[in-house]
Amino acid sequence: MVKENLKIVEEKINAACLRAGRSREEVTLVAVSKTKPISMIEEAMDAGIIEFGENKVQELTSKYEVLPKNLNWHLIGHLQTNKVKYIVDKTVLIHSVDSLKLAIQIDKESAKKNVISNILIEVNIAKEDTKFGVYAEDIYPLIMEISKLKHVQIKGLMTIAPFVDEPEKNRIHFRNLRQLNIDIKSKNIDNVHMDILSMGMTGDYEVAIEEGATIVRVGTGIFGERNYSI
Ligand SMILES: *Cc1c(COP(=O)(O)O)cnc(C)c1O
Repeated sequence: MVKENLKIVEEKINAACLRAGRSREEVTLVAVSKTKPISMIEEAMDAGIIEFGENKVQELTSKYEVLPKNLNWHLIGHLQTNKVKYIVDKTVLIHSVDSLKLAIQIDKESAKKNVISNILIEVNIAKEDTKFGVYAEDIYPLIMEISKLKHVQIKGLMTIAPFVDEPEKNRIHFRNLRQLNIDIKSKNIDNVHMDILSMGMTGDYEVAIEEGATIVRVGTGIFGERNYSI
């Protein structure tokens, strides 16, 4: 099932790139494997996937332990400061940084392990009460402070768009995130590289690609519905 699903997702990514006049190489597909077993991850690996996303530290590290070390792990969920130490040297990108406190902790633990951690700033682009992330208008002071940290590098922005019945409804949010990314990039802040836009999930990744996503995070579309009751 995973292979067939991946083929469909790949076709849709290609079609969206074509519509947007973008090259397929500009978009990275992160397969969101949260709650899914190792066997399904292996199936995705067989189909050539090496980028995987998890939203829980414990689940990421336990999968990291048993799977080949050539995989690239993305931490996409909310991260508590006390768990940072478990993941800094196991992830290629932390998508969910939304406070200076968290960034400082990532910096500290990365220094200890002698690594530089790539991070994205999570933006609550639609200002939903239920979501983590900073508001667009609050982002500059945060970026200025984080840019001073030596073991953390800001690579761009991430957002989780609203849950909508019609993906078109999120187009404006994706467009706004892209514009914010461009605005920040134009400021040429030292140690800040705004090259990554992580936006778009199963319900809306095609629209996100049309609006400039460089990473899409697709779970259900690849691995099927998640069952949280087991
Ligand atoms: C679960 C999750 C996804 C994937 O969601 P799907 O709708 O299953 O594609 C993407 N991003 C984040 C942050 C998630 O937690």
